Amino acid sequence: MHNEFIFEPAPQSGLEISGSNKIFPVHRIYCVGRNYADHAIEMGHDPNREPPFFFQKNPDSLVKQGQDFPYPSATNDVHFEMELVIAIGKGGVDIAADAALDHVFGYAVGLDMTRRDLQGEAKKLGRPWEVAKAFESSAPCSSIVPASEIGHPAKGAIWLKVNGVERQRGDLDQMIWKVPETITYLSTLFTLKAGDLIFTGTPAGVGAVERGDQMVGGVDGIAEITVSVV
Ligand code: MN
Repeated sequence: MHNEFIFEPAPQSGLEISGSNKIFPVHRIYCVGRNYADHAIEMGHDPNREPPFFFQKNPDSLVKQGQDFPYPSATNDVHFEMELVIAIGKGGVDIAADAALDHVFGYAVGLDMTRRDLQGEAKKLGRPWEVAKAFESSAPCSSIVPASEIGHPAKGAIWLKVNGVERQRGDLDQMIWKVPETITYLSTLFTLKAGDLIFTGTPAGVGAVERGDQMVGGVDGIAEITVSVV
């Protein structure tokens, strides 16, 4: 009989649910690349509607509300990307667009922190993005607000301030791939499960932070997050 782990497994990653004492257990973290036209343009890409592409972060890289973001190793150019986050409550494959929102438990706001210098090298060399995107503490995320309370917002300002100065501002209605389409497309590539998070891309204005900076961002009507760079 094989029934015992040889050491204690890593703790289950999770996010608080606002207005509740329950925890949302996090399974995988998916991220959508280039999902706002003005950000695609600022990164030197064609803003036309190409199929979405995805990368992943690790569930144990979440930074929860109230925790700090430690400046990562091996970079001199770590960037913020403010994003709407979808919390999947019911899994599936090949999910139909008109049923996609039934799979959403709720929404949060998060920061897709990025080692931009390492991402630039990876792009140039045709290498994968993990070292740029999936490092420790690379995924600050707010508590989750249930869709049963706020519905499924398709518009609303998304913004980020650093040390009180506004750096990013957009609107959810500028997303190239909307929430239902993103779920549908992702579910043709992966088996979505309850507990998955999807970071949905960032509007224009991304930039670097330094130790000592304070980032405050949000999506109006959903949530806000405050993270200090230490
Ligand atoms: Mn991003």
